[in-house]
Amino acid sequence: MEIKDLKVDLLCLGARVSGVDKGRKGGAGPAAGGMFSFGNTVTNVPTQSWFVSLSPYSVELVEGKYILKRAGERITEVRFPAAKFQELRTKDGISYGKIALLHGTNCVATTTIQTCAYWDTPKRCKFCAIELSLKSGATIAKKKPEQLAEVVGAAQKIDHVTHVTLTTGTTATSDKGIKHLAACASAIKEATGLPIHAQFEPPDELSMIDLLYESVDTIGIHVESFDVAVLKEKAPCKAEIPLQQFIEAWKRGVELFGETQVSSYIIAGLGERDESIIEGSRLLVELGVYPFLVPLRPIPGSDMEHEKPPIPDRMRHLYQVVGEILHERGMSWRRNKAGCVRCRACSALADFE
Ligand code: SF4
Repeated sequence: MEIKDLKVDLLCLGARVSGVDKGRKGGAGPAAGGMFSFGNTVTNVPTQSWFVSLSPYSVELVEGKYILKRAGERITEVRFPAAKFQELRTKDGISYGKIALLHGTNCVATTTIQTCAYWDTPKRCKFCAIELSLKSGATIAKKKPEQLAEVVGAAQKIDHVTHVTLTTGTTATSDKGIKHLAACASAIKEATGLPIHAQFEPPDELSMIDLLYESVDTIGIHVESFDVAVLKEKAPCKAEIPLQQFIEAWKRGVELFGETQVSSYIIAGLGERDESIIEGSRLLVELGVYPFLVPLRPIPGSDMEHEKPPIPDRMRHLYQVVGEILHERGMSWRRNKAGCVRCRACSALADFE
């Protein structure tokens, strides 16, 4: 089985890791982070959702090595990237792991504002879990720029991270959280010089995006789906934003940051047809925006926790077609400087380019 096919299987089916988790002493583990590194890729594998118990994949500790098995047969060795920085604490006693986490093999990621204006309303995205980790005490509500500078600085020194992903819940203000993203990015940039990715909703004023120009290298403005009926049901807040507003924001982003430095998540498995994903990806690629195509991740505790991701064969077909669209345009994840596109743990598109 090719690495890219295995990656799609793991993204869609997940893997059982229970025995392994008990056997590990601490740090970022498969149960906590689910980051599996194998071959020349890394995959963010579901390990806690209900459907994982049906997966043919499991990980076992064999003579000190983590072995990925399918129906009990050895497939390959997997590694779980270390995140020693997460074990440290700030001077005021907050665990670094509550401020930022290692994503993939070399990206440090955080949600700068862990609350969302839509959370307690019928408009919230049904696939989202932003405030669940806050309620569980796994993180803090708002990360201060100086805290992030300290934590990312440590991640750079200790774990040799090479880029940063900043996301945010949408605020009730017209900047949609961009001002705080800019403050956080400036502090991190000054402390580390690392390339930084920032994700946000299209702001009311396009000039808000310009605030990020000095400190940020790449941006993500996520449409989630090009099917309006699906959006209305699964992400009502996004359905209220006209597609044209996304297009203007993407265009402004490409003008500022360059082709392939702007991306949009597209989630497969919300109830859309393949055509909407393929045509939507074509539109993004024409604008110079990278379509970060991911299978639905039903997160335990979210409104969609009982759903299932799309089947691997559907995702392989979509990745194949969208990979060809990228190829025709000469776009590749390799040119992207920071964030999800460079990390590629949550999408197998890079592996199909
Ligand atoms: S692709 Fe993005 S969200 Fe997924 S692990 Fe990497 S940085 Fe995190």
